[in-house]
Amino acid sequence: MCGIVGYVGERNAYDILIKGLHRLEYRGYDSAGVALVSPSGTLNVYKAAGKVSNLENYCKDKDTTGGIGIAHTRWATHGEPSDRNAHPHFSEDEEIALVHNGTIENYKVLKDALIQNGCKFQSETDTEVLVQLIEYIRTHNDCTLLEAVKEALRQVVGAYAIAVIEKNRPDTIIAARKSSPLVIGIGDGEMFLASDATPIVEYTKDVVYVKDNEIAVVSKTRPLKLVNLNNEETSVDVKTLELSISQLEKGGYPHFMLKEIFEQPTTLLDCIRGRVVNEGKDIIVSGVLDSKEKFMNAKRIIIVACGTSWHASLIGKYLIQDMCRIPVEVEYASEFRYSNPVLDDRDVVIAVSQSGETADTLAAIQMAHDAGAYVYGISNVVGSSIPRNTDSGTYIHVGPEIGVASTKAFTGQVMVLTLIAMAIAELKGTMPKEDLIKIGEEILKVPDYVRQTLELNEQIERLSLIFTYAHNFLYLGRGYSYPVALEGALKLKEISYIHAEGYPAAEMKHGPIALIDAEMPTVIIAPNDHLYEKIVNNVQQVKARHGSVIAIVTEGDKEIRNIADHVIEVPDVPECLTPIITSIPLQLLSYYIAINKGKNVDMPRNLAKSVTVE
Ligand code: GLU
Repeated sequence: MCGIVGYVGERNAYDILIKGLHRLEYRGYDSAGVALVSPSGTLNVYKAAGKVSNLENYCKDKDTTGGIGIAHTRWATHGEPSDRNAHPHFSEDEEIALVHNGTIENYKVLKDALIQNGCKFQSETDTEVLVQLIEYIRTHNDCTLLEAVKEALRQVVGAYAIAVIEKNRPDTIIAARKSSPLVIGIGDGEMFLASDATPIVEYTKDVVYVKDNEIAVVSKTRPLKLVNLNNEETSVDVKTLELSISQLEKGGYPHFMLKEIFEQPTTLLDCIRGRVVNEGKDIIVSGVLDSKEKFMNAKRIIIVACGTSWHASLIGKYLIQDMCRIPVEVEYASEFRYSNPVLDDRDVVIAVSQSGETADTLAAIQMAHDAGAYVYGISNVVGSSIPRNTDSGTYIHVGPEIGVASTKAFTGQVMVLTLIAMAIAELKGTMPKEDLIKIGEEILKVPDYVRQTLELNEQIERLSLIFTYAHNFLYLGRGYSYPVALEGALKLKEISYIHAEGYPAAEMKHGPIALIDAEMPTVIIAPNDHLYEKIVNNVQQVKARHGSVIAIVTEGDKEIRNIADHVIEVPDVPECLTPIITSIPLQLLSYYIAINKGKNVDMPRNLAKSVTVE
């Protein structure tokens, strides 16, 4: 999920690798490492938790010579960020070193089998399984590294971009990918590889984008060779890089926020990978299974969070109540901690935070623990304080979020809360299995639905021009769409500095309706759910007061399209999945309005990405 770099040629590999790691820093990471084969034939592996500069300090008095090497920035998914879990990982005989981005889903099965065969592991990562498996195959079959990698990858289920070097072949890197990016740069007597072109662009413009299931033989003396897992050679399609470095860092997008909005089909796939299995028939949330008794006997669930995570939590409340018939309360962590809450050991407290470091949420967790409640964490950053201080939990696995206004973390949180609700419903038998299966099947299609929703990009960009100069906005929704309204309003406030209020649509008449006039746009989230007819009335109420309505509706909508001023049609999904889909046009709308106003969307004034103070 973070970055890899590789070099083979006549120059000093270390310098190129470190520079490359710095270029990849924008992706966010928690540790870094490098492996080099020295001219005297030793394979040196150096790694350190924290910044790339920590690695550089660590390497100061080490042997960093050699013309071949691989390097890595890690975003932990299995095992906390630490020196030991950082990549590269060595094979047990220390002949092979490997870096990996992604996740190995079946690592447990493979690891158990290797342990039974006497293999010893040094780290808690899923990655180490791969290098040990490669070594095992190579020594037992007496084959080349390329053959061993090919065979190992045939056994692996998951996502990966890998680079592997061996002590005795200091002229070749073996690299491969599936679902994680990998680019190879072709120079004159030298080759480069990286997760994206940023570490390469200053040396060569000739690049090859490795495709899924391809293995690359990257050598300084021979032309690039690509083979697939069936041992067939595939074509090498050299492309010319045309992007500037700053564009490349953002994956070709002008801002991290837009990049992260567009990443959502992939991040949601990463979030459900290994959790929605058997074609949607089974939901496996290991944290819930570990806490089975606690969830089954919970008299109440309290979700504590702040900001966007609080909005995701409110959706979580509707989901859990609806599917599991357990009473749920959602609390702002900052209020909860000072509200003298009544808690006991039959309460389950779920803490939700992207960074896993939100100060108020951490304080709320402490209180819950002290009162004897069971505490469950949902966060994005592996090894952060929330997962370390909770009894159990789930990662959302959406990769580092750099834009201050949360987008992909929000949809990841909602997805994880949906899976948790489904897992508990299954345990408690509060929903018919057929209904759970139907939702499970639809969840597998969510990445495609999101991709389809993102095709609205240009329509929303055009629409944004009409509303850029509004001073106030109202966002309305009912049921599952009410928290979406809150989140839509927050997004707009955060980055465009336009005052916006999110409201339950029916509450509008108890106050905000007084604000409505031709100057104030109202965004109404109105998918075809069981409250559709009710929200049609709310649209009428706004129109009767000459308000201008932008409605987010389900494709094929008949009624609202005749009343609203602008309609944005999103794919038809089951009611419980609508928030993930309807929130996307709102992310785009706030992005474009802020851009039209010339605001710094990635770093809005006064805001911090992770609120580690009270
Ligand atoms: N799953 C691997 C780990 O946790 C790789 C994570 C990454 O992509 O950085 O070490």
